[in-house]
Amino acid sequence: MPVKKQYAVIGLGRFGTSVARKLHEAGQEVLGIDVIEERVEDAEPYVTHAVVADSTEEKALSSIGIRNFDCVIVAIGNDMQASILTVSILKEMGIKKIITKAIGKRHGKVLEKVGADWIIYPERDMGERVANQLLSPNMLNYIELSQEHSIEEIMIPSKMAEKNLRELDIRAKYQVSVIAIVRGKEIIISPSPDQLLYEKDILVMIGRREDLAKFANIE
Ligand code: ADP
Repeated sequence: MPVKKQYAVIGLGRFGTSVARKLHEAGQEVLGIDVIEERVEDAEPYVTHAVVADSTEEKALSSIGIRNFDCVIVAIGNDMQASILTVSILKEMGIKKIITKAIGKRHGKVLEKVGADWIIYPERDMGERVANQLLSPNMLNYIELSQEHSIEEIMIPSKMAEKNLRELDIRAKYQVSVIAIVRGKEIIISPSPDQLLYEKDILVMIGRREDLAKFANIE
């Protein structure tokens, strides 16, 4: 269980509610804030506390005690002005970690200028994920490390089952490295060359994205 932290989520639409709910389920303390009372009521089962407030008013944020929160997530949807104003007020108040969602590039740029620490582009990122999944059906999940490199979870090609890593010589043949094997509930970290692979194993691999894509497309 991660260390218990205090989170505030401003804007309880679909995005904000799902962030709040997940954090709350993980045992974290979550304050939900929305300007619409009905949204606040709907979110009540999924948060520790929920309050009605307009985050573009500094006084309202102050009286909630927003300064005491470790991390504030600004999940205001289409009202760009409200989201930018909220982030700049939070920054001025000295909030250490401000996470926010942007609806587009220009919105994101402004959020960066006013001091957001992490900007999320949900539609763009989800679209990329779907496309990547379609391009490499054996790829289950990935983390981008840079423009060129990533860590990916890839289903083992069936022809590699019942062979060990030395025989398969994956690093030399595909220029990618296996850093772990997920086998059901078991995880084998830094597998040895003698490690046998089985059908349904998932390989956690690191490498250049194009090399990983080739590996993920082996029949
Ligand atoms: P989503 O795409 O995540 O469903 P929405 O636009 O539906 O996004 O949700 C954004 C939420 O943010 C709405 O519930 C809205 O009432 C809330 N919101 C907008 N402006 C403010 C504000 N100034 N203060 C607090 N909440 C706000």
